[in-house]
Amino acid sequence: MPIIGTSCNRSSMIDPFGRHISYLRVSVTDRCDFRCVYCMAEDMTFLPKSEVLSLEELERLCTAFVRRGVKKLRMTGGEPLVRKNVMSLFRGLGRHLESGALEELTLTTNGSQLGKYAQELADIGVRRVNVSMDTLDRDKFRQLTRWGDLDQVMRGLDAAQRAGLAIKINAVALRGVNDMEFEELIRWSHGRGMDLVLIEVMPMGEIGEAARLDQYLPLSLARADIAKHFTLSETDYRTGGPARYFRVEETGGRLGFITPLTHNFCESCNRVRLTCTGTLYMCLGQEDAADLRAPLRASESDEILDRAITEAIARKPKGHDFIIDRRHTGPAVPRHMSVTGG
Ligand code: SAM
Repeated sequence: MPIIGTSCNRSSMIDPFGRHISYLRVSVTDRCDFRCVYCMAEDMTFLPKSEVLSLEELERLCTAFVRRGVKKLRMTGGEPLVRKNVMSLFRGLGRHLESGALEELTLTTNGSQLGKYAQELADIGVRRVNVSMDTLDRDKFRQLTRWGDLDQVMRGLDAAQRAGLAIKINAVALRGVNDMEFEELIRWSHGRGMDLVLIEVMPMGEIGEAARLDQYLPLSLARADIAKHFTLSETDYRTGGPARYFRVEETGGRLGFITPLTHNFCESCNRVRLTCTGTLYMCLGQEDAADLRAPLRASESDEILDRAITEAIARKPKGHDFIIDRRHTGPAVPRHMSVTGG
């Protein structure tokens, strides 16, 4: 039974399962300067620009969510930093940090443009960034991202640290590809004062010849293997996202695991995802979505939009059911991760 009462419709967002929605992730563009093999096919077709919301429209949508109780905003993509003038969106949203309405403005990036933008992001009030990096091996990095340059990303990390941004490295765990590098990734990221989070590969979108079953590495196995080299102590550290964190006693750093397949975390899900066309997905792993573009454009006041948001939140499902095994080798949802952002 939905428990959204009419009295709280215009303010806080509570879904049918009593979960408070306080985290919005926004895919500001579906385009990317990399073509990671587990994320996209090499010959991806991107949305025509005419379908994509303007940065002003994205800002207005985000602002509506902040008014409704969103405390954490994450810009993602595609690659958020390749969208033209994206800094104007960050600057606009930075106002909500200044007013105190928003607690955190952050982004997930492949790091390729951080050299250019890290200082400006820090000046706007961004404090932490997630940088996706699956390997420290230059050639493997090129193969995995198809188009990426590891040295450029390293320069981006340097710039981000110089600007005072805290960094979390996200690495998708890929069987036979980077599982032999976890020890090195832990020592390297902790040595630079960065958290490391390992992520299970999710069955999203057709990715061409690469097979999910071959890529999939359950993190329960990875964790057992890592525990042979390091002492992992449980912590209650949370960042508002789905990772479960351990302290690595030997390095003093934090290691997180995101396990949508082996252990889903839906019971504590506090987030919804907006695409660059204004479609709201209430769950990363389900197809149901709400169009917010039409209500946004229907009126200059936010009343119609607010109603559409309330209706969407009332449809947030209990959870996803990702499976990868011999009988389920195809995508659980046809959408690529770049549509809704990781
Ligand atoms: N371009 C930015 C980046 O590289 O971080 C943001 C978008 S990217 C889609 C966000 C995250 O999703 C990255 O960490 C990426 O590795 C991860 N990702 C993409 N496809 C995935 C999949 N099928 N399963 C798990 N993670 C995936």
